[in-house]
Amino acid sequence: MKKPVTSPAAALLAWYDRHRRVLPWRAPKGQVQDPYRVWLSEIMLQQTTVPAVGPYFAKFLKKWPTVKALAKAEQDDVLAAWAGLGYYARARNLHKAAKAVAEMGGVFPTTYEGLRELPGIGDYTAGAIAAIAYDLPYAAMDANAERVIARYAGVEEPLPKSKPAMRAALQALVPQKRAGDFAQALMDLGSAICTPKKPACLSCPWMEGCEARKLGIQEQLPARGAKAVRPLKRGAAFVVRDASGAVLLMKRPEKGLLGGMLQPPLGPWTEDFPSKAEAMKQAPFKAEWKKRVGVVRHGFTHFELEIEVYVAGVEARPPFSSPVHGGSAVEDGEGGKSRPLRRAAHASSPVNRGGKKSGVFWVEERKLKDVALPTVMRKIVSHGFG
Ligand code: SF4
Repeated sequence: MKKPVTSPAAALLAWYDRHRRVLPWRAPKGQVQDPYRVWLSEIMLQQTTVPAVGPYFAKFLKKWPTVKALAKAEQDDVLAAWAGLGYYARARNLHKAAKAVAEMGGVFPTTYEGLRELPGIGDYTAGAIAAIAYDLPYAAMDANAERVIARYAGVEEPLPKSKPAMRAALQALVPQKRAGDFAQALMDLGSAICTPKKPACLSCPWMEGCEARKLGIQEQLPARGAKAVRPLKRGAAFVVRDASGAVLLMKRPEKGLLGGMLQPPLGPWTEDFPSKAEAMKQAPFKAEWKKRVGVVRHGFTHFELEIEVYVAGVEARPPFSSPVHGGSAVEDGEGGKSRPLRRAAHASSPVNRGGKKSGVFWVEERKLKDVALPTVMRKIVSHGFG
């Protein structure tokens, strides 16, 4: 008897109906998806894995159960809740987009074009939300989907040049019905079956039509262009604690790397570490600075960072002026507006000069977990604590 002809989409959906993952942001089978949850999860999942996103998603939903609630939040609260998830422009855009949606009455745009106009929503995210929340026939190309499509369609051109070809190949497969399930099915297939190494082709619903499998090159796809060597930057950081153990932190400028987040005082990042004499000139004030043994390493998208950490203890909080990497975090004038920071800052008092507007805070050690301290700065502070 002849096998019935099944479209790739139908085969994938039948697989999904049996193997779909249960995820916190996913509506149970047959229920309508909440665009707020879809949007929140899609923004968090950009550049971040499902296990890492889980606790953050739960925390955000608990604090801000609706987009209107998120719109009313202080940006510093949002950044503090996001701390550790990385790519902080996402958090700032998330907050801006929430405000934009709140201005529309708290209702998300229901078209791809409307979604695309919101801050932080690019082609992929607009496609994902349109498909998953509204079942519109759009492609949602995350890293998992990219891998599956590169293999299934046999796209041998290296990334990122091959992106348009992959997008076209994927769009041609998107069904008119159940587009949301199709998008999620592809993500699940990439996560469970079409894995980066040793894909389980024998369990794959697309095995018969898969070009890469036919050629035996599945593990070589998607091809990637030669990786650019990331430059190495080095510098010094200054971790200081007062008599009560509170640590000195400063707010970074709103724009640029880790914008609006907190950091200990830092010197500039250059090709090499500063000598002790140079570092002392970069220190926020004169003290008995001692260099900690070892180096803090952190990888950013475009460069690697190595930081030497100098530590000092002070009896009283001294006046100072600090050359802070990335612009004047001292005078950015935003710090005093921060409710969580004011709550967390020891004695609620940014240090002298500029008072509440100084963007300078003394934060008790036990409250460090509640402030907008990105992972790299957290590493520096804990290295300083020894
Ligand atoms: S057959 Fe193998 S390589 Fe092709 S899509 Fe399925 S798991 Fe991936």
